[in-house]
Amino acid sequence: MPELPEMEAWRRQLDDPVSAFPIEKAGPAHVATLKTFDPPLATLDGRRLAGAERRAKRLMFPTEDGELVLLVHLMTAGRLRYLLPGEKGPKVPAFQLVFEGGARLVLTEAGSKKRAGVWLLTPEQVAAELAHLGPEALGLGADRLAEICAAESRRLHSLLRDQKLIAGIGRAWANEILHEAKLSPYALAPDLSREDVERLASAIDTELARGLGLREQGAKDDKTYRVHKKLGAPCDVCATPIAQVDFEEHTIFYCPQCQTGGRVLKDGRLSRLLR
Ligand SMILES: [Zn+2]
Repeated sequence: MPELPEMEAWRRQLDDPVSAFPIEKAGPAHVATLKTFDPPLATLDGRRLAGAERRAKRLMFPTEDGELVLLVHLMTAGRLRYLLPGEKGPKVPAFQLVFEGGARLVLTEAGSKKRAGVWLLTPEQVAAELAHLGPEALGLGADRLAEICAAESRRLHSLLRDQKLIAGIGRAWANEILHEAKLSPYALAPDLSREDVERLASAIDTELARGLGLREQGAKDDKTYRVHKKLGAPCDVCATPIAQVDFEEHTIFYCPQCQTGGRVLKDGRLSRLLR
């Protein structure tokens, strides 16, 4: 699933183009993709978008008149593309906006499962929809992170991915951040020292900024990640092969030298059964 760096790179890319021309026609939309029916999509026709905004892993396109917001959540397989007039696109996009002059914003989704969603909302509805989200991960800071860690007796990998606590990090960047911070994915948040928290806060910023920079240059996953999905590859700090462990329906990748003091982590699902 695209996380904060990927979504922010797309936001920056889309901000100017989507506001260049008024919308000529909104839709069509796949019945499973469009999550709202009132106001109807056609309400967007003739309006101009103000640009692209982002909150956590969602993109928002407010209208210039301030009355409506198109909210997009790509989930795992959704992709947004801006197509120039005449540029070839998918035959049946899950959703599209056609701009005056012929450019298009299209949402596609690989696979048969339609999980990505598009909502047409008022700004008040958007605020309610996003109210459950924690503070943005980028720029969170050590003080705020220390409060979150003290209040949540959770393993770090799970805490970092909880959008209600910190918004924008998923499993890939949780792996990268914990490796950079030299912390075990299984460490319990309240057990962190102040120094650990400071290292984690700084790793959140440096890793998300590194990811954003790479994604803006168009880097693919393999060039972007240093531990995520790198099982067996040498750790770029100590050359120990990267290890993996299953935990909470996810696979965690980590360096057993840098992060767990040489210990190999046990499968989180298995140890629950054995406990
Ligand atoms: Zn290492």
